[in-house]
Amino acid sequence: MPKGFALILSAPSGTGKTTLIKLLRENLPDLKFATSHTTRQIRAGEKEGKDYFFTSKEDFESKIKNNEFLEWAEVHGQYYGTSLKSSEEHLENGYNNIIELDVQGVKSLRKLEYSGIYIIILPPSMEELERRLRKRGTETEDSIKRRMQNGRAEVKNYKLYDYVLTNEVVEDTVNDILSILQAEKVKASHYRPTSPDIEAILKDGAD
Ligand code: 5GP
Repeated sequence: MPKGFALILSAPSGTGKTTLIKLLRENLPDLKFATSHTTRQIRAGEKEGKDYFFTSKEDFESKIKNNEFLEWAEVHGQYYGTSLKSSEEHLENGYNNIIELDVQGVKSLRKLEYSGIYIIILPPSMEELERRLRKRGTETEDSIKRRMQNGRAEVKNYKLYDYVLTNEVVEDTVNDILSILQAEKVKASHYRPTSPDIEAILKDGAD
């Protein structure tokens, strides 16, 4: 079975990432999500194992020691990490896999030359980002400040990504991602012969 694609997705906190991922999963049933681990508090409406695996600092640090993470980083004063097992398992089983990361995580993956489609989702403006964060009503003033600061760092690093999408209307952003995935599927590097006669031609090698 051919391996799936990893979709590496970053979005400053408050960009509308949760809704976006929900819509993507509805549109693409074979899209899996590498649930990250975090030491931050669970928010109202979040589910253990679906949004994150919520763990203690001690447990997270022991996972770091046991090399259980593809990458991990401290974001907004809390640990966040992508489990090596869940991300690789999905790809090996032929599924496309979303890995959601902050910019530090993306830097780590680029250093590892981790193969994937790197996408950053930006808000239409920083003013709008702050408005959305405040509207959410889940963050303290200090946490809003930190998230805005982190958001600015993500905007600055947009060149680390293959695609930059501005999330104005979430349905349009979903359609953009579906188009990107469609284009990736038909890339020459992903072509697999569809019949024995084509396979025989390809075995002959290029002219
Ligand atoms: P939130 O607490 O709002 O869900 O996420 C805060 C930040 O942590 C976001 O920028 C998000 O992209 C990042 N994040 C979530 N999971 C991971 C992860 O596994 N690794 C890294 N490096 N960042 C993550």
